[in-house]
Amino acid sequence: MGRLESNLPETCQFNPLDPEEFRKQAHEMVDFIADYYQKVETYPVLSQVQPGYLRNTLPEKAPYLPESLETILKDVQNQIIPGMTHWLSPNFFAFFPCTVSTAAFLGEMLCTCFNSVGFNWLASPASTELEMTVLDWLANMLKLPKSFMFQGTGGGVIQNTTSEAMLVTLIAARDKALAAVGFHNMHKLVVYASDQTHSTFAKVSKLAGICPRNIRLIPTTLDSGFSLSPLKLRTAVEADVASGLLPLYLCLNLGTTSTTAVDSIGPLADVAKEHGLWVHVDAAYAGSACICPEFRHHLDGLERVDSLSLSPHKWLLSFLDCCCLWLQNPSLVVKALSTNPEYLRNKQSESDSVVDFKDWQVGTGRRFKSLRLWLIFRSYGIANLQSHIRSDIRMAKMFEGFVKSDPRFEILVPREFGLVCFRLKPDEDIGSDYTEMLNRKLLEWVNSTGRVYMTHTKVGGVYILRFAVGATLTEERHVVAAWKLIKEGADALLTCFDL
Ligand SMILES: *Cc1c(COP(=O)(O)O)cnc(C)c1O
Repeated sequence: MGRLESNLPETCQFNPLDPEEFRKQAHEMVDFIADYYQKVETYPVLSQVQPGYLRNTLPEKAPYLPESLETILKDVQNQIIPGMTHWLSPNFFAFFPCTVSTAAFLGEMLCTCFNSVGFNWLASPASTELEMTVLDWLANMLKLPKSFMFQGTGGGVIQNTTSEAMLVTLIAARDKALAAVGFHNMHKLVVYASDQTHSTFAKVSKLAGICPRNIRLIPTTLDSGFSLSPLKLRTAVEADVASGLLPLYLCLNLGTTSTTAVDSIGPLADVAKEHGLWVHVDAAYAGSACICPEFRHHLDGLERVDSLSLSPHKWLLSFLDCCCLWLQNPSLVVKALSTNPEYLRNKQSESDSVVDFKDWQVGTGRRFKSLRLWLIFRSYGIANLQSHIRSDIRMAKMFEGFVKSDPRFEILVPREFGLVCFRLKPDEDIGSDYTEMLNRKLLEWVNSTGRVYMTHTKVGGVYILRFAVGATLTEERHVVAAWKLIKEGADALLTCFDL
């Protein structure tokens, strides 16, 4: 041992958190970041590199001796940035944007600064209590029933992703059901959702031990705007009951990923409650719009629902990852997930006077993420958050108007939020395969320019283009330029195919 110590080089006494060094480097980094935000518009929004581009240029081993931040940032500029698909680009219209803000960034810095691991109240009282407060704040903005708030009889928690929100609620529902009918009936539990529900629903159901043949994805149609029909739900549930199965859980959508379809919560929850199902609402993207009174009606009927999840990283200016989950009866989740090892025991937890968030989630450790939301809500106020949502919707409406004014295009489903679903119209004389091919080619061409990034989806067998407005830096001029580019693509394509 002595020999080893005497051989240690002097650099081993280094301090990886020297405050003065940090002050200097952080300045450099903040400058780099602010420059990036100013320049991001000029980079190709969809990365044009080939697989392996980075792996083939970076050294195989980590450096033995330290390198300067200046050198490292040069490599970020020259090696990393060309391989980025720039989610922060104002020309990003793919998937759903992942919104950001200065306030959330500063909150994230504080979160990282404290490095608190608030698994129970005592491990970081401020972390637990701030989370309870901001979840109630957001619940109030959304006008959720009091039964979802700590101010009432429920409460909320920050999960990482929607998948985890679904998983913990499904496990709570499962354990409650099995406690009544016995664990040997596990294979009889059935879960329901529309065929438009995010693919993570099936994944989560498998994780929760639901038999794959008991995952019902009920078909929807274009006529009904791809929302779930209460009648079809009833038929499916009653058929399962008749064959001796046990209906367990229904996942509803407030804004599907493909087309932002909305399920009618009230009538569907009525059907579900007749059979005692747990009802969860996945409002990952569109839920944020409900802070505006004109969209709040989408949450009507919520008092009959057990849980609701909404991801502020999608549309409420937070960064990844931040999914808020509210529960009418958090004790069911706690009952399913609580652990009580000796090394975490403390007087406050034992007295049941505090919330221990480790019992509301998959992991034990958790970050102080509520700081992000707290900074956002306080720095901007509800007024600015509402105008942020409305401004995105105004730009989406504008794009929708452009599409409608061009007879070669059509809108596929009515636009409700910031997403426009459209395509080149089928020609009478050409088949649907040909239409799909043209639309594919158009999308490929637009994305290959690096000036706009959009994605596609397929619903009811129809291939459609998705234009999702909402990247934080997007302004009207970017939407105008994007449409000009799409039209240019259509001109070239239709000429070359002689249509
Ligand atoms: C994005 C999205 C998800 C997936 O969310 P994760 O947080 O990535 O698990 C689920 N549902 C809807 C409706 C979404 O738009």
